[in-house]
Amino acid sequence: MLDDNNKASATTADIQALDAEHHLHPFTNTGALNKKGARVITKGEGVYLWDSEGNKIIDGMAGLWCVNMGYGRKELVEAANTQMNQLAYYNTFFQTTHTPVAELAREIASVTPGDLNHIFFANSGSEAIDTIIRLVRQYWAIKGKPYRNILISRENAYHGSTVGGTSLGGMSGMHKQGAPLVPNIERIRQPYWYGEAGDMSEEEFGIACAKALEEKILEVGPDNVAAFVGEPIQGAGGVIVPPANYWAEIQKICQKYDILLAADEVICGFGRTGSWFGSETLGITPDIISMAKGLSSGYLPIAAVAVGDRISNALIEHDDDFNHGYTYSGHPVSAAVAIANIRLMKEENIVDYVANDIGPYFQQKLRDTLGEHPLVGHIEGVGLVAGIALVKDKATKELFPDDLDIGMICRDHCFNNGLIMRAVGSRMVLSPPLVISRDEVDELIEKARLCFDLTLKSVS
Ligand SMILES: *Cc1c(COP(=O)(O)O)cnc(C)c1O
Repeated sequence: MLDDNNKASATTADIQALDAEHHLHPFTNTGALNKKGARVITKGEGVYLWDSEGNKIIDGMAGLWCVNMGYGRKELVEAANTQMNQLAYYNTFFQTTHTPVAELAREIASVTPGDLNHIFFANSGSEAIDTIIRLVRQYWAIKGKPYRNILISRENAYHGSTVGGTSLGGMSGMHKQGAPLVPNIERIRQPYWYGEAGDMSEEEFGIACAKALEEKILEVGPDNVAAFVGEPIQGAGGVIVPPANYWAEIQKICQKYDILLAADEVICGFGRTGSWFGSETLGITPDIISMAKGLSSGYLPIAAVAVGDRISNALIEHDDDFNHGYTYSGHPVSAAVAIANIRLMKEENIVDYVANDIGPYFQQKLRDTLGEHPLVGHIEGVGLVAGIALVKDKATKELFPDDLDIGMICRDHCFNNGLIMRAVGSRMVLSPPLVISRDEVDELIEKARLCFDLTLKSVS
């Protein structure tokens, strides 16, 4: 398919036409895309991608927040190849297991915080979230309180795109489609200090946002609430880092009303914030967490729910089946790749590298290079994830009009200048592979500055 310059032998136009003919893209206006033609990605190596025109692109998003160990890792390819030859598939439903799934459960338990010692497998973050919804409700049913079935989440949260994930998430654009949603889900405000705090200090705002949880609990009745679910740092919502006191307050409130605390670690897990899990970075002690993306660095689909002793003991002591699972729960090939991925992370001390070297370097460089840029209202982030608010007026935080779609203008400039950066409304987000070097960070951020300059020109 590729010649020496990594160009596809079929022309870009051929592939685009083929794609337009039969492929419905996720989260896409397919009609509009078909007129324009999708970009064709042909190759990945390290933090770089190549497209069918031979352009080299630095991937500031690690695919979709997932290719944490970078593209082209032979260790992961080898693990898949070996396992596929040995045992390509077997299920884990009918009192059977296999070595990769058992070993992966131990590997994950070795890096999860606290007493999250048991692992349930799924194939995507959305499926992991559906598992959490069903599992926390089943937990309370086992405890003789089936009426404790309300889950509380937050506006602008992203928890996936299955019916369960869409319902639990707080994305209004998603709620408008495919309704009705799953019942008994409530939402509270998000802790977006820069955008929503008005004159409040970060500390006051952190308390106010946590208080919203308590108010909601009292509104629906503490005895009806199963769990609170949140991303340690909101990802798809625009990379929103809550005030430092927020999670401690949330945790206190959950304890006060005996409500389970679930952390959706699909982005934050596996080193993104400089700890194995965002819960450690943010000081959360969850009862249950979901993980996916970085678990296999995206090489194969796999997800997991790590379950704390409180819930797993109840499930194990309860003499009945848990009627939930997926054909590919703990798929042996995906599991083998995830094991190899975790071992590679350990061998290369990648979590420490993010915490103490490249993470702080990236955050500082972003602020030094872009902080004073006229378009940049605010930069927030931890480790190797960051969100940048684009504003019309730095002093007043005034935004550009929605219909201008400043984020898309900026994203298109990135696209045309060899950089992948994602737009979430008027926020630009970055989440590069964790293996990125300092030189590559410099390149990425210099390109971002160029694209911000071009964006500014486009709107002046
Ligand atoms: C991506 C994401 C999901 C959904 O994962 P999929 O694998 O796309 O189903 C759920 N929660 C969070 C926090 C995510 O970022």
